[in-house]
Amino acid sequence: MTLTTELKEEFKDLYDKVKLCYQCGTCAGGCPVFKQYSSFNPRRVMEKLLAGDISAEIFDEQQIWYCTGCYTCSTRCPQGIDICHVINDMKNIAVKIKNAPPGIITEMTAILETGITAAKSTSALRKRDKLELPEIPPPDMTEIQKLMEVTGVIAKLNALKEDAK
Ligand code: SF4
Ligand code: SF4
Repeated sequence: MTLTTELKEEFKDLYDKVKLCYQCGTCAGGCPVFKQYSSFNPRRVMEKLLAGDISAEIFDEQQIWYCTGCYTCSTRCPQGIDICHVINDMKNIAVKIKNAPPGIITEMTAILETGITAAKSTSALRKRDKLELPEIPPPDMTEIQKLMEVTGVIAKLNALKEDAK
């Protein structure tokens, strides 16, 4: 892949955002994904950014896509680094250079069509019934689709579908 001036700027921007990281590991300690799947470690992602090596995360391993975007790490970092936002930036770079995992198209399409990425399972609905929880209101599809349109998500999705052909 050719490192365009724009990409170089984006990588430099990522480095600037994480340069105060002293590798304490607090981000990993609270990460719900790391607890279940130790191969994804936000501290290690920061380490790679500090070393200027994000190639594996963005081009090969694609571990960044396991991040759920819960922001727990960002609220806990003693250095005030917005780790979740940084990982989102990395995902955006991966989309831009056409290296997002194929499942992203399925998830984005599901949100566009139904407002959710995974249908509610029968067992989950049964548990809700047992707990006498109220029915989950259906998502406002007009609002969701409008948001996806004005933020450019639909255009990105169409471009990804085109590239995948
Ligand atoms: S919590 Fe902050 S300082 Fe500690 S390793 Fe994570 S990013 Fe670095
Ligand atoms: S935002 Fe991502 S990296 Fe941070 S705690 Fe949540 S899942 Fe882990």
